[in-house]
Amino acid sequence: MTWLERIAVVVFMVLFMECFAWAAHRYIMHGWGWGWHKSHHEAHEGWFEKNDLYAAVFAIVPIVLFVVGLWWEPLWWAALGITIYGLIYTFVHDMLVHQRGGFRWVPKRGYFKRLLQAHRLHHAVEGKDGTVSHGFLFARKPAVLKAQLRAHAEQQHKRAPQARNPAKTPAAADQ
Ligand SMILES: [Zn+2]
Ligand SMILES: [Zn+2]
Repeated sequence: MTWLERIAVVVFMVLFMECFAWAAHRYIMHGWGWGWHKSHHEAHEGWFEKNDLYAAVFAIVPIVLFVVGLWWEPLWWAALGITIYGLIYTFVHDMLVHQRGGFRWVPKRGYFKRLLQAHRLHHAVEGKDGTVSHGFLFARKPAVLKAQLRAHAEQQHKRAPQARNPAKTPAAADQ
């Protein structure tokens, strides 16, 4: 492979992973995978969340690709792209937004401020449904997200009143 091809594979995978992460967060974690992700949306004590299991499971993929990539080079570079995305994600989501590891930096302007606001708005809704901004590196303007939140809230209001406060499922409450 030429260096141009290697870089192209890495960049493609970083962008692909943002799409994958968005879809997984939107449809799996806020869908049938809510059981693990729920822990990330509620206050808790201790260092780890059940939600961290997602990172552990997803990490298996690049590890396998690094190994198989020893025989077929493009896969090795694809694995590197996934790993770089994982590092960026950890920085933006875990450190910048959720201040894990004692990281304290509140950007006052620019791209990182937008990411921070967007993900805080993701956490503005309690629970599985009606959330906005499921991506991490591409975020819409806070004003757009706030309008989406208002629209979701109105929709829920229109539905049957008993659906407004869904009872917590006992199965998901174990911690
Ligand atoms: Zn979420
Ligand atoms: Zn979060």
